Amino acid sequence: MENKINPRRCKICQTIFTPARQLQGVCGYDCAKAYTNKLKENKAKQERKVLKEKLKTHKDHLQELQKVFNTYIRERDKYKGCVSCGKLLNAKFDAGHFYSVGKYPNLRFNVYNVHGQCVECNQHRHGNINEYSLRLGDRIGNDNLLKLNDSRNTVTKLSVPEIEVLKIKYKELTKILKNEQ
Ligand SMILES: [Zn+2]
Ligand SMILES: [Zn+2]
Repeated sequence: MENKINPRRCKICQTIFTPARQLQGVCGYDCAKAYTNKLKENKAKQERKVLKEKLKTHKDHLQELQKVFNTYIRERDKYKGCVSCGKLLNAKFDAGHFYSVGKYPNLRFNVYNVHGQCVECNQHRHGNINEYSLRLGDRIGNDNLLKLNDSRNTVTKLSVPEIEVLKIKYKELTKILKNEQ
């Protein structure tokens, strides 16, 4: 019985061809060469990626998480007013901390401690903290405000794997918010 091989699409040039061997994925010599190069490139790319990941410092990881976390805060708060002055937020606004990152690093990624804030309040009025404190209770509820105050001085040093988990978490939460709209 003759073992017939069906025609298939070349992985490089996309032409339909009838292979001579069962495992043949490309149509001819040139495409085979191109395919080998492509595999080598992919491998090199993967290796560079692994190396880059290895060279990242704890601080780099925290900064990446900050970016993801801020995106989540902006998505959550984009239809609310500025947490300090109440003005409607426009396209460009900040994620402003109530308790500062410098003094309270453990509250850096606390969703009750960070809210959408206009650039004026965040960057030109040092967070406009007096107004922030007047509105924060209404925004998060008094129970959460008490909890936030209580957790001010706990010490949390996130490990790299913990940071990775948080990155995934806030990416997911952002996606969920976007899908709800
Ligand atoms: Zn081909
Ligand atoms: Zn403001």
